[in-house]
Amino acid sequence: MLPHAVPTIELNDGNSIPQLGFGVFRVPNDQAAAAVSTALETGYRAIDTAAYYGNETGVGEGLRMTDVPRAEVHLTTKVWHTDLGYAATLRAFDRSLANLQVDYVDLYLIHWPVPSRDLYVETWQALEKIKSSGGARSIGVSNFPQAQIERLLTETGTAPAVNQIELHPWLPQKKLRAYDARQNIATQAWSPLGHGQLVTDPVVRAIAEAHSRDAGQVLLRWNLDLGNIVISKSVTPERIRSNIQVFDFALTTDDHARLAALNAGKRTGPNPETYGI
Ligand code: NDP
Repeated sequence: MLPHAVPTIELNDGNSIPQLGFGVFRVPNDQAAAAVSTALETGYRAIDTAAYYGNETGVGEGLRMTDVPRAEVHLTTKVWHTDLGYAATLRAFDRSLANLQVDYVDLYLIHWPVPSRDLYVETWQALEKIKSSGGARSIGVSNFPQAQIERLLTETGTAPAVNQIELHPWLPQKKLRAYDARQNIATQAWSPLGHGQLVTDPVVRAIAEAHSRDAGQVLLRWNLDLGNIVISKSVTPERIRSNIQVFDFALTTDDHARLAALNAGKRTGPNPETYGI
């Protein structure tokens, strides 16, 4: 029995994913194994990496360091800008499997749409192929605005299982979440702590104090309450542990109203409409 029972979310392809996962953006490759194995030992069962993070080999090593069977871990990686396009994506996927030393991933995502290159539809077709050949159990997108998802639906008829987007109280993404929900696409939140910047917000801190919790726990609980899948990151063992202790307290309606009032349309990462090469 795990110390923290993380609920699962069922995806539109019938697969499921833990609602809270562990991310490794900006974790150097030589620290990734320790972070991932600590997370797994703490009870996380979903790991989010990307080819771009340069730490897939460390992540794979972390998976093999614990007794947790591969089948119990939900593993995500992503294809980067430089590998967009049908053939390049198939090659990039094989490289990711080799780096991770696994024979499948649970979720493969297009990291960013890069509209200026106009390659995301054929990249999506490569992901369909990867799913049908069993390399990825589920396929999805990241940082896709509504217009780009609509184009995938029109041109391929396959809905992404997941749209992984920046989402925290400064940027609650109400419209895109509603669109994802209408299409039965699960919204997954990245940078739930505003890339660490929201933990010092006075409103967040006051709510945390009222519940005898820390700011990270309040921000994660808020995001889970919205129904999102959430990925948090830390290389600090105490924070890795505290960030999963979010299933034994509840925010009040008033807490939610105060956190909703923090909406400022403020991104901590790039704008997907323009980001690319
Ligand atoms: P988070 O919002 O999870 O914040 C991480 C930062 O907050 C780190 O600096 C961490 O420090 C600090 N932190 C973590 N927990 C606490 C806590 N309890 N109290 C105070 N500070 C804390 O940011 P990320 O940007 O890393 O996003 C999470 C994950 O989402 C990524 O790792 C990645 O997997 C994914 N992601 C995906 C993107 C995409 O384009 N698809 C883009 C960005 C992220 P420390 O590590 O030193 O403890």
